[in-house]
Amino acid sequence: MSDVSYKIKPSTFANLPGGFTARQIAASISPKFLELIILPTEKCNFRCTYCYEDFEIGAMSEGTILGIENLISRRVPTLEKLRLSWFGGEPLVAKKIVLRIASHAKLVCEQHNVNFDGGLTTNAYLLTSDLAALLISLKQNFFQITLDGWKAAHDDRRKRADGLGTFDQI
Ligand code: SF4
Repeated sequence: MSDVSYKIKPSTFANLPGGFTARQIAASISPKFLELIILPTEKCNFRCTYCYEDFEIGAMSEGTILGIENLISRRVPTLEKLRLSWFGGEPLVAKKIVLRIASHAKLVCEQHNVNFDGGLTTNAYLLTSDLAALLISLKQNFFQITLDGWKAAHDDRRKRADGLGTFDQI
């Protein structure tokens, strides 16, 4: 074990190579900011050639959903900000879970005047305009959507589970 100790001055944060500001670093370690990264399912309607998922784990169990809702209810009164980040698998394959937990979180945050938002890393295949409007009404208003180049290159890498291309629908 090394006996070297490190001292980090606050001014160091402003010079981090990643370009983060001191405010961003402070927010990331503040107990008043909570970000939950939630995988409501590991299943997906795509089979991208580079994907690392095995797609075995399906929708989150009722017990896990209740656990997340309880965690939100307990933590929100101590927070200034709550953020939900949805990941998968494809989170919209389990959209009922996304909508349920986001609805709960929005309600609790409103009751305690806590800033609330969220977003999805999604392949967007199931993201209709109606569903997008519903998600945005629940403050889930950031969407990270990947296109792997133009149609030919994209469809070569990002196929549906049945092998068809996805570019046009996205
Ligand atoms: S959309 Fe994401 S989870 Fe689905 S197959 Fe592609 S990389 Fe994997």
